[in-house]
Amino acid sequence: MQPSGLARSSFQRNHALITPDGHVRAPLLGWTQTQSITLISPQMGARFCQFLALMAAGATAGLPLPSVERFIYVSEGRLVLETAVGASELTVGSYVYVPSALPHTLCAVTPSTLILFERLYHALPNLVPPTLLIGREQDVVGDPFMGDPAANLKTLLPIEFAFDMAVNLFTFQPGAALPFVEMHVMEHGLSMLQGGGIYRLADAWYPVQASDTIWIAAYCPQWFGALGKTPARYLYYKDIHRDPLEVRL
Ligand code: MN
Repeated sequence: MQPSGLARSSFQRNHALITPDGHVRAPLLGWTQTQSITLISPQMGARFCQFLALMAAGATAGLPLPSVERFIYVSEGRLVLETAVGASELTVGSYVYVPSALPHTLCAVTPSTLILFERLYHALPNLVPPTLLIGREQDVVGDPFMGDPAANLKTLLPIEFAFDMAVNLFTFQPGAALPFVEMHVMEHGLSMLQGGGIYRLADAWYPVQASDTIWIAAYCPQWFGALGKTPARYLYYKDIHRDPLEVRL
């Protein structure tokens, strides 16, 4: 296709849409046979990182920085995760919460694509940090969102104060929408997995589709409506359970 200079990607003070045609791949420090795309980072004003890891068969993951917790979602491929407690096979829909400072190895058996969220774990006195958690989204029962059976929400991590992040999977039937324009203290990182629709971010309305990424800063007005003839599905991160006066990266 002839280059046109046109793109859907947009970077604003309180939100960003990052579309796959703009991705620039780079090797990832500590990882082997892996290309990565850093989608969301403190460089844009976020307090977490979201990145894609494109692993060749035989590729291995590196460890996060000290004090950084990691959430891994497998969107393609098959991998083996090893920790001191044993080995687990990960396939599409598998997810892992890796607490900070937990040694682990992750090796791709087939070419694999991971969506990762990382942030500095915000430890609190008298609160025991979470431990390793491995799950499959297929095993998580979703709930109708605010009573709407056409908007199904799967909460992938336990709702416990020890966690300072939540990662959820939202599925909207065609025509379903968020019930109101949200505006809240939490920030989001979001990966469209399937289908599409319109995302309102601040005063702009963006057509979105599978493989798009969205960053939503605290207090950015936000709304989604699903369009098309197939369900729209997205995975998203938010920060939770910490006092806003204890602002940290
Ligand atoms: Mn929200």
